[in-house]
Order: sequence, then C-alpha cells, then structure tokens
Amino acid sequence: MAWVNENYAVLQDSYLFSQVAHKVADYAASHPETKIIRLGIGDVTLPLAPVVVEAMQKAVAEMGVKESFRGYGPEQGYDFLHKALVKYYADFGVSLESSEIFISDGAKSDCGNITDLFDDANVILVPDPVYPVYLDTNIMRGRQIVFMQGSPDNDFLPMPDASVKADIIYLCSPNNPTGAAYSRAQLKEWVAYARQQDAVILYDAAYEAFIEDPSLPRSIFTIEGAKECAIELCSLSKTAGFTGTRCGYTVVPLELKRKTRTGKELSLNKMWLRRQTTKFNGVPYIVQRGAEAVFTPEGQRQCRENLAYYKENARLIGAALDEKGILYYGGKNSPYIWMQCPDNMKSWEFFDYLLEKLGIVGTPGSGFGTMGEGWFRLTAFASREATQEAVERFRKCL
Ligand code: PLP
Repeated sequence: MAWVNENYAVLQDSYLFSQVAHKVADYAASHPETKIIRLGIGDVTLPLAPVVVEAMQKAVAEMGVKESFRGYGPEQGYDFLHKALVKYYADFGVSLESSEIFISDGAKSDCGNITDLFDDANVILVPDPVYPVYLDTNIMRGRQIVFMQGSPDNDFLPMPDASVKADIIYLCSPNNPTGAAYSRAQLKEWVAYARQQDAVILYDAAYEAFIEDPSLPRSIFTIEGAKECAIELCSLSKTAGFTGTRCGYTVVPLELKRKTRTGKELSLNKMWLRRQTTKFNGVPYIVQRGAEAVFTPEGQRQCRENLAYYKENARLIGAALDEKGILYYGGKNSPYIWMQCPDNMKSWEFFDYLLEKLGIVGTPGSGFGTMGEGWFRLTAFASREATQEAVERFRKCL
C-alpha cells in the first residue's frame, strides 16, 4: 500500500485564476461586441531583448558543433553567469562569492525546493495578503503557519512583532500582490528580529528591477548582518521577460548556518549545493547564455526599456486612480497596483462590476488572503494601448 501525503488534502483549491478565466469566458460569450481589457495577468507581454535572442541563437549554433557542444553543465550554473551576477550585485553594493549563487529555472521552483532544507517542526511566518506559493509549499510539508497582517495601517508592509515566535520568515519586496516595498530601516528591523529569533528570512526579490527609488534596498544583503540570516530568491521572469524562457537565481550566503534539532551545525550553502546536485540537473546552457546577456550593459539598457514601458503603464493607472481619489499601493516601484475597491465593495463584487460595466479584468485581492478582501490587483503588463483604453474607461465610469 502506498500512502500519499495527507497534507495535500488540506490544501485549498487554487480557484482564483480559474474562476477569473471562467467568468471572463462567460462574459466574452455573452458580450461579443465588447473589447475586454486584461489587467489581471501577472505575465509579461513584451518580447525578449534583442541581445538575449542573439546570445541564445549563438549558443544554439554552438550546441550543433562537435567542438563546442555541451552536455550536462554544473548543477549550480555556469561560471560565466555567476561572474555576471557577482558584478550585478556589486553595482548595488553587495559583495558575493560565486559559490553563493545558484542558478535555477525560476524563483517559483526554488521557493518550493528550499523548503527541503528546513525541519518540518519550524513555525513559518508569512504575510497576508501573500504570493500563494509560500503558503502552499509549506502546507504540503504540514508545517505550522502564522500570518502577519498587511493593511493600510502598516501600508501593507507588516513589521516584526517580538511576541511572535517564528523560525522561517517570508518577505517579498516589492511585493506581489500589493506592490509595496520595504525601506532600508524596515529591513534592518527584520534582520534584527530574525537574528534575535535565530530564524531564517526567505527574501523574494523577484521584482527588484522595478525599484527606481534609490533609497529602497534592491537586495536584503544591502543590510548589515543579513548574510547570517537570509536567503534571497530572484528571477529573470519579470526583469527580462523570461517567464517562458525560465531562469532565476538563489543566493545562499556562506555565513548562513543553523543547527539540526539534535544540535549539529550545518551550512545552508552546503546543504543547498547538496540538494541541487542531487535533485536538479541545471538550467540549459542556451538559457544561461541568454541570461548572461541580460547583465551586459546593452542587455541592461534593453531590458530597462521594457521595464520603463510597464512602469509608464502603472503610472497611467495610478494617475487615473489618483483623480478618482481611490486609495492604492504600489504602481511606483512595482508592476502591481493594489487598489481599494470603491464603495466598500468586496473583491469579487468589484471584479464583477469592472467586468460587466467596463469590460476590464483584474484580480480579486481576497484570492491572496483574508486581508486582501475589499482590495483588488491591477497589473501594468498589458500593452500601452490597452492600458490607455482601460484608463479612459476608469475615468468615465469609476
Ligand atoms: N515570486 C513572486 C513574488 C512572483 O510573483 C513570482 C511570479 O509571479 C515568482 C516568484 C515566480 O517567478 P518565476 O517565474 O521565476 O518562477
């Protein structure tokens, strides 16, 4: 008899996006004349930067020649990409060793896989509202989860509470879904709390490239002492349009050590290397060459042009909400706009209203946690034309 993991029975069905798709399909069928504008998607729409495409084409050609063909690569990524990332981090003041960087097929996989390193008796602290992957991957392990509430009272940036005991802390900045970003002073408090609790922070920096305010930290490792208490997860998905190409990286500092329940001290860097070399066979060479190109000066220029396009979309949406006096977060250092539903509407009520009255699709905030009720997420990833059209509809009807 094979027993299956009972924790899967506890998981809630992730019906958020399927429910959205279902409602939109019904509406489209009954309103064939309406041009539906989709501001719900969390996927990029602009193509890869030309330098990335060229680098990958070159790598494909290399793979077709005996002398330059490559088979299995290093599980933790090629040196050329490590070097590019060491330089990228150095440019915002973080000094990393190559061996601290692990190339992955994206931040989502690593968010789930990193849970391998920790004992199931750990108490997990997650924000609410939250990127659902943090929650579900820990429910799959049967771990105890404690929520920290985000609300306008803390600008959707929950801060540590000394009376709450936590072992693993998830932070995401700039945040999905709220778009809110922690300041340096706030991250310092988190680092101090984690060190005092002997906890580990799993810091999701998937949206760091959207930060334009130079005072905001782009990495938790810009905070002193973070290398002794944090792991950083990062992704090229939104930074460089790699959602379909798949590449990310996780930084596990050499200084980061914790004990087993029987008192043995282990290096998390060594554990992660062991885990990756056992369960992962690396990211394709071709993709890593494309990723390397992202971090060249020309790659950065081209990728930042795309980010500027999305950020202008966010600005247009934000300006329309400002005119209407609607409270929102994000939209500045983030592709997400987290708006309060007008007239005390609930998230799904506002979803129906927006779809039926304006033909606009967004994402109900309640799908990201109980604190998301009454809130709504719009994204800046649509085309400029679609975003402008949505903004006009907001102006007329909201
Ligand atoms: N972390 C956050 C906060 C995200 O919003 C996403 C994607 O939407 C990811 C991680 C996953 O990124 P990737 O495409 O690298 O798996």
